[in-house]
This record gives sequence, C-alpha cells and structure tokens, in this order.
Amino acid sequence: MAEAEAARPENLRLFFALWPDDVTRGALHRSGKWLHRHWGGRRMRADTLHITLAFLGATPAGRLDALIACAGAVEANSYELTLDQAGYWRHNRIGWLGVQRMPPQHIELVEKLNVRLQAAGFPVEPRPHVPHVTLLRNTPGGDIPECRPVSWPVGEFVLVKSVTGPNGAHYAVIRRWPLETDIAPTAA
Ligand code: ATP
Ligand code: MG
Repeated sequence: MAEAEAARPENLRLFFALWPDDVTRGALHRSGKWLHRHWGGRRMRADTLHITLAFLGATPAGRLDALIACAGAVEANSYELTLDQAGYWRHNRIGWLGVQRMPPQHIELVEKLNVRLQAAGFPVEPRPHVPHVTLLRNTPGGDIPECRPVSWPVGEFVLVKSVTGPNGAHYAVIRRWPLETDIAPTAA
C-alpha cells in the first residue's frame, strides 16, 4: 500500500508541482468558491492549491539528493498558463480547473522532468499529463459551467512533501527551481 509505505519514517511522500504565487492562489480559490456554488462537495483549502507535474509517491529519504539533482538538471522556460476549463472526474469525484490550450513550454517542462526522473530510476507516469488544479473533492459534479480564466505566470517549479492528516493532505514545499526566459526550444 502506498499510504502505508509513506507512513514509514524513512519514506517521504513526494511530488513535483507548480505552486501558485499569492495572486494566482487567490484567483484559484475564488474559482473554487464559484465551482462549489455549481457543484457542491468539499472545497480545497487555499494553501493546498497546485498543479502536479510528476507524482513520486513514497520515496526513501536517502533518494532526496538524487531527486534534487534531477530537478536541477532540467532547463526549461517560464510561461503563462491560462486555466479556463472546469472539469469533473467521476472515478475520484474531483472537480478541477484545467487548460483548454496547453502551452508547449508546459509539455516541455513535464517531459524534461520525466526524462531525468526515469534515467535516475524514479517512477514516471505512463498516462498523458493533464494539468489541473483540484478545487473540489467528493463532489457530484454536474453540467460544465463556463468559467472566468485564471492567468498563472509560471516562473518556477517545486518539490513538495505530502503529509496526510485527519483533515486531508498537508503540503510542504521542500525546494524551488526557477524557470528560465531564454532556453531554446528542443525539436519535437
Ligand atoms: P489525499 O490522498 O490525502 O486525499 P491528495 O491526493 O491531495 O490527498 P496526495 O495523494 O499526496 O494528496 O497527492 C499529492 C498530489 O499528487 C495531488 O495533486 C494528487 O492529485 C497527485 N497524485 C496522487 N497520486 C497520484 C498518482 N498515482 N498519479 C499521479 N498523481 C497523483
Ligand atoms: Mg491522493
């Protein structure tokens, strides 16, 4: 069980993410209020809002240095993400905000990170990446409403430790890596 493994002291439950600045966080939290009015469910706390880039799960603490080296080797550009699409996943009853148009820099960041992680022997997600901010848990969903776009200036990515408590997961940012402004795009 991943949860049981993560509970062992030598393991950390880790993931790489985009972590919003305060202005973006405020806008996302208001979107959560709006979506909650439509669909109900449990609204996520403002301090939990993020986009997962790569989920590692239970990771031995001794592998942290290798993980940090992977992230440090990623060279990718900053970009703007426009979150303008509400969505609902029936299988986990999550209501989220995602993107209609994926910036190529976002795909590149995720791919470069995954390449490094895989080369270092970390688990990578075989399914296509779907960037989303979870806004509601345990929601029945409903008709997809038109939403007011949230602009997220993405200037860094982070490594996060997840600790599951009685009130849901709490996240702590362990480390941050800035994105660049002038990396030449790689050929597809
Ligand atoms: P909880 O599991 O306690 O209800 P949570 O899902 O927010 O809370 P984690 O399970 O630690 O917390 O997940 C951290 C982040 O990684 C979340 O964005 C979650 O959606 C994502 N995540 C969790 N498991 C996976 C997985 N198997 N594959 C991809 N992403 C995952
Ligand atoms: Mg989870």
